Amino acid sequence: MRPEILYPLFEPVTKLKGIGPRIAKGIETLCGERIVDLYWHLPNSLIDRRYAPTVADAEPGRIATLTVSIDRHIKPPNKRLPYKIITSDDTGTLVLVFFHAHEDYLTKALPEGETRVVSGTLERFSQEMQMTHPDRIGTVAQIDHLKSVEPVYPLTAGISLKVLGKAMAGALERIVELDEWLDSEFFRKNRWKPWHEALLEAHAPVSMDDLEPNAPARKRLAYDELLANQLALSLMRLHMHKAAGRGIRGDGSLQEKVLAVLPFALTPSQQTSMEEIADDMGSDTRMLRLLQGDVGSGKTIVALMAMLGAVEAGTQAVLMAPTEILARQHLATIEPLAEAAGIRVQLLTGREKGKNRQAILENLASGETHLAVGTHALFQDDVAFNDLGMAVIDEQHRFGVHQRLSLAAKGQAVNVLVMTATPIPRTLMLTAYGDMDVSRLTEKPAGRKPIKTTKVALGKLDEAIKGVKRQVDQGARAYWVCPLVEESDVLDVAAAEDRHRSLVQIFGDKVGLVHGRMKGPEKDKVMVAFATGELHVLVATTVIEVGVDVPEATIMVIEHAERFGLAQLHQLRGRVGRGKDDSYCLLLYQTPLGETARQRIDTMRETDDGFIIAEKDLQLRGAGELLGTRQSGLPDFRLADLTAHTDLLATARDDAKLVLNKDPDLESKRGKALRTLLYLFERDAAVRYLRSG
Ligand code: ADP
Ligand code: MG
Repeated sequence: MRPEILYPLFEPVTKLKGIGPRIAKGIETLCGERIVDLYWHLPNSLIDRRYAPTVADAEPGRIATLTVSIDRHIKPPNKRLPYKIITSDDTGTLVLVFFHAHEDYLTKALPEGETRVVSGTLERFSQEMQMTHPDRIGTVAQIDHLKSVEPVYPLTAGISLKVLGKAMAGALERIVELDEWLDSEFFRKNRWKPWHEALLEAHAPVSMDDLEPNAPARKRLAYDELLANQLALSLMRLHMHKAAGRGIRGDGSLQEKVLAVLPFALTPSQQTSMEEIADDMGSDTRMLRLLQGDVGSGKTIVALMAMLGAVEAGTQAVLMAPTEILARQHLATIEPLAEAAGIRVQLLTGREKGKNRQAILENLASGETHLAVGTHALFQDDVAFNDLGMAVIDEQHRFGVHQRLSLAAKGQAVNVLVMTATPIPRTLMLTAYGDMDVSRLTEKPAGRKPIKTTKVALGKLDEAIKGVKRQVDQGARAYWVCPLVEESDVLDVAAAEDRHRSLVQIFGDKVGLVHGRMKGPEKDKVMVAFATGELHVLVATTVIEVGVDVPEATIMVIEHAERFGLAQLHQLRGRVGRGKDDSYCLLLYQTPLGETARQRIDTMRETDDGFIIAEKDLQLRGAGELLGTRQSGLPDFRLADLTAHTDLLATARDDAKLVLNKDPDLESKRGKALRTLLYLFERDAAVRYLRSG
């Protein structure tokens, strides 16, 4: 249960004065429907009204707050002309200008003969100092309030800064003081302020520095969020480990049979991963392990070996894929190998229905089936196992942390192995999995050679083409990737069609073209021609990024490489280097090269390690862009910025670990405050793992 002290923060914004359903709707689109959502919506700019010169000293173009006496209203002779108010101080005259003016309002707000404070942007208009539509008008008594710095927030259609500012002020009035959840030593050392003060400060920036992610107030709030994240993950992990009980250790007999029929030898990192997994499964704490490896690094066979270990030990194993197609693909890989080992495999997806499904369920329940491959259908309520010992989840970023937990219920102390295809940078991994154990496939399967990567300015295109021609004349096959399909008159892009035409001049009819606007069968025909060697050069748009496997292709030319993201360049380059011959990647770039583009291209030349590339990509792009957080199952941080706060994340992880070591049920004073923190960041589920949650 959420602590009472947080109730006011979780009320809908409509509880605030002056916020009706229409405005609430806008605020909801902007940041969320509750008061706490407004708290997390921090300013991204500010308006400084502290400049308060005399009229004579005032610099045009600046926002200024001036104290003037109202001399005279000049009504316009017709509606199209502005309403003017002549004002002055001892040093000069300032004309206030209003279009479509409401006379009633103006005579009340700026009465002749009185002194008023006006704040807005100054302009000089033919020797005359003017202010058109002052942003603020007030009395002399209000000057301190007017002469302030106002936060500027990101907005959305229908929500003006004024409206949001009002809602924000109302929300911040409700702020509560919460018991400090930070370690007191750490808190002191950072000279941070208590949570409520930090929040108020973050919403009241006085300089541009205060808007930086590492401004103290923002940093503290980001740390709170990261700590809640790490604490929740650690609690989940503790809970899973506590629930565990038995070690599962196979005798290697089934694995041996499969290894005997494999047409290749396992890579060293496949072997290491296998051993790590076996040790983990053999220990009597439950396994919760991530198997990380670039596409094509050979995760499936490692997972199969682990599952065979579970079967050897007399238990069952499942492999769950995120989609039907992938489940079938896994089955196709696994079935012949399982047959060689003499064990029974069954597929269960949403497509298996009726009697067929019933029979599958019976076989799972009786233990007749050793190994099940499928989709989410495997975890429906009526699916029961005789004795499930291990589950592999081929994640592909599609399952969230919580779904993963539903596995735990299907067997006693199920060992869990999560496979992820995209090399997630360590930073992001921590936020999604906490300190999960990790096995990594760091090298490509045997026979794959490093790809020689060079960069060439487009000015030297002719030389590049000559180089490719030399190789092709000796029998090589080359991809030539262009960024856009058709010539755009806006961007100076060498389009694929143009490039195709020009390469035909040089390579003759051995050049094919494939792009996203072609129909499926048409595309297939070209691809087959390239795969069989009928075509030597394939000009393509990024459609070749996915699912193409032509081991004989050894050259990858990427035109306008500066326009591609790092992950994309890495994927594209991964299309070559799959056979036994040396491979090359040529990055053609347009000069002058921007700084980030240069860094991307240099990274490609320096490494082909997907993990390093992903880290660099994160640095260059920021976490949000790297992986759409929604689909990825990665947490969406409101205050923390994973590029700017990387060090905070590591600290939060250590902090969470330490505090749970000392106080696993969060019973101490700090522990209780941390419970509030978990609720504040809506990690309610994690609190349930506590003994007295
Ligand atoms: P991913 O990690 O992307 O799931 P897969 O498990 O699908 O990769 O493996 C990619 C391809 O590499 C498959 O065709 C697989 O048979 C092959 N493979 C896996 N391990 C090795 C190895 N040690 N040597 C050679 N080929 C391998
Ligand atoms: Mg795979």
